[in-house]
Amino acid sequence: MSDSTFIKPDRETLEDTKAGNYFIANYPPFSFWNEKDLPCIDSLLNSPSPGKAPLGLYYHIPFCRKRCHFCYFRVYTDKNSSDVRRYLDATMQELERYAHSSYIAGRKPKFVYFGGGTPSYLSAQQLTELTDRMKSILSWDEAEEVTFECEPGTLTEKKVQAIKDFGVTRLSLGIENFSDHILETNGRAHRSPEVFGAFQWARDAGIENINIDLIAGMLEETDENWQDCIRRVLELSPDCVTIYQMEIPFNTTIYQSMKKEAKLTAPVADWPTKRRWVKEAFAKLEANGYTVTSTCTAVKNPQQTRFQYRDQLWGGADMVALGVASFGHLGGVHYQNVTHFEDYCTSMEEEKPVIRRALLTTEDERFIREFILQWKLGSVRPAYFLDKFGVDVEERYRLVLEDWQRLGILEKRADRWVLSRDALLRVDSLLHQFFLPQHRDAKYV
Ligand code: SF4
Repeated sequence: MSDSTFIKPDRETLEDTKAGNYFIANYPPFSFWNEKDLPCIDSLLNSPSPGKAPLGLYYHIPFCRKRCHFCYFRVYTDKNSSDVRRYLDATMQELERYAHSSYIAGRKPKFVYFGGGTPSYLSAQQLTELTDRMKSILSWDEAEEVTFECEPGTLTEKKVQAIKDFGVTRLSLGIENFSDHILETNGRAHRSPEVFGAFQWARDAGIENINIDLIAGMLEETDENWQDCIRRVLELSPDCVTIYQMEIPFNTTIYQSMKKEAKLTAPVADWPTKRRWVKEAFAKLEANGYTVTSTCTAVKNPQQTRFQYRDQLWGGADMVALGVASFGHLGGVHYQNVTHFEDYCTSMEEEKPVIRRALLTTEDERFIREFILQWKLGSVRPAYFLDKFGVDVEERYRLVLEDWQRLGILEKRADRWVLSRDALLRVDSLLHQFFLPQHRDAKYV
């Protein structure tokens, strides 16, 4: 161990990493989504098309080679090829349901996102057949962005070429860390040599936007190793770098071990250390020409490298969600599919509904959703909210904005309110102040 190795304090502090979800990905919190609002989705799908309103498509592939110790997604590591085929068929039936509805028919997705799980778990042939089927049901020929998440160890040169050929414009590599020891300790399936091979194949294939995901604060992370990770990222020079701060949700293997040992504090770095690591990474990226574009991303060329999925979704776009446990948003209604493989496939085969919970949002909730999500980009423009929702945010949140200015974490620049870097790195903990009273302190599950 070096002097700079992260050392846990003896006593627990408020800043220790405890179990739970801290990051805000949507609003109102998931715990308010319910069965009562399920009919809203059917009636929406039977209503007239909103014409040119932006539309996206999210496709969930729930298979992985191995379950990472920090993973909280619905993933399966034990499915065989006939299970995979059954799942792909079920998702195509689901896409047909949407494509034939009056609300979606005739519309074309502006963005497509393959998430998981591990989309790159599928073979090149499975992926090509799947995407051909998808396009024949709902054409993507107007999609400005097609994102595809990959686990580096599942890629081959041939598969990367197939991914490029079916239209992927943004390849996201789940690298997380460059140390083989840390990858192994955290249960990752890949090792660092696979990262360099995968990155080069993606460059050679000419994929226009390559993103690298890292996690600050994995089990056994150290200052020394983190500096090495940043150095390697700079050497690779991706178009976009996304850095998550490690959280330990309740459904992770790490939490199961904490429970067994009756520990409240997770065996990872505390929040100030994780924020410092991201801050240092951002500073080095900026020194090398990158621009920080959100609480967790830096891009090399902000004029060229967009992230439509995030920006359209956070701007209120419709998004059809396909697959087990997927989250969608249509015409102001949030929804999520059933969360078990068998339930999902059987329901599709028996032509039964697969949505398990929904929420018909109010206009005010839709305003708050966009307002809080856009803070995660580092700044908000009051005129946007006045034009779109008729809300004067400077008047409605005067006390909060004055308080943040007094604390030195907010300043007005031209037509925007801009967060300080320190505030941006802990923005999720600040956003609850904008929630409606009934949603404060609610769990994000
Ligand atoms: S690769 Fe991603 S989705 Fe799969 S187990 Fe690991 S964290 Fe979860």
